[in-house]
Amino acid sequence: MIFDLLLTADAAWLGERTLAGPTAVGVRGSEIGWIGPSRDAPSAVTRTHVDGVLLPGLTDHHVHAAMIRPEQLLAAGVTTVLDLGWAPDEIWPLVDRARSDPALPHIRAAGPFLTAPGGYPSRQSWAPPRVAIEVEDPVSAIRAVESLVARRPATIKVTLNSEAGPVVDDATLNAVVGAARAHGIPVTAHTQGHGQTRRAYLAGVRVLAHTPWTEELDDSLVADLARDTTIVSTIDIHGWGEHTRDRRTALHNLRRFHSAGGTVRYGTDLGNGPLPIGVNIREIAALTDAGLSPVEILRAITGAPLRPGATADVSVVPADPTADPAVLGQAKAVLKAGRPVPARADGD
Ligand SMILES: [Zn+2]
Repeated sequence: MIFDLLLTADAAWLGERTLAGPTAVGVRGSEIGWIGPSRDAPSAVTRTHVDGVLLPGLTDHHVHAAMIRPEQLLAAGVTTVLDLGWAPDEIWPLVDRARSDPALPHIRAAGPFLTAPGGYPSRQSWAPPRVAIEVEDPVSAIRAVESLVARRPATIKVTLNSEAGPVVDDATLNAVVGAARAHGIPVTAHTQGHGQTRRAYLAGVRVLAHTPWTEELDDSLVADLARDTTIVSTIDIHGWGEHTRDRRTALHNLRRFHSAGGTVRYGTDLGNGPLPIGVNIREIAALTDAGLSPVEILRAITGAPLRPGATADVSVVPADPTADPAVLGQAKAVLKAGRPVPARADGD
């Protein structure tokens, strides 16, 4: 069997606690067709040797892609981003462009936020028109979800920010979750303000867009969340390196959630505030502070392991990330869906 491309490197992370030695990845079309020791490598039309350690392409689980230059993320090893809220007339064309543009990462998106009339973020200075759909009751909530499903959103994003404005009531929130679930679409919530995380959980929301930071969650809620909810970290939005009170509260919640067995995903909220573009090594360090081991951090920032049948999204780091996950800050993308990632000409 002849592959389109054979990628070799002296080491690879295949999802285990330690690295594999010299490894070859056989690519056919957009998928990995073979992976194993270099000495057993099959033949291929093209062979490329990469210096460093191969990894699955990295994912940032919380960005606002229209506010940044997503090609800079791909260059930094992030082959997939999840856009958690933007105006449809800007985000869907970008999602479509990313499908064919080899310089852009895969972009999966929520589309507009769902919020209460006048609720966050409809009144924010950074928010473009139509960034949010305002829902006032279960009927309008169901109508809003139904209006989004044709675009096959990666998730439905709902905001429960009682510090910035009104929030939807429980019946409306339940309707959002029920309508999304009927289409097999998960719901992601921004929770901010007393009691909002518990409300989200009780309504069936199973992804939190941020580690909650406005209150210390009680132990029973932490235990409930740890059973079946994913938290996207976004610790570094608090203080951008300064150890603020909000950061301490978020880190304390994330540490308890992780230690109770909860699933943590790496996410930065890029596009919101002066965050460094690329892999944010302060976010990586915060995950270490929250108790994640290097291998747990790798799982939080990668999708499926490199294996036959997986989409051929491959990145490389210069040294062993199971020894020091800070090397993720030096990641580069090698392949996006089997296609070599173009080198950047403008030096960033
Ligand atoms: Zn955000």
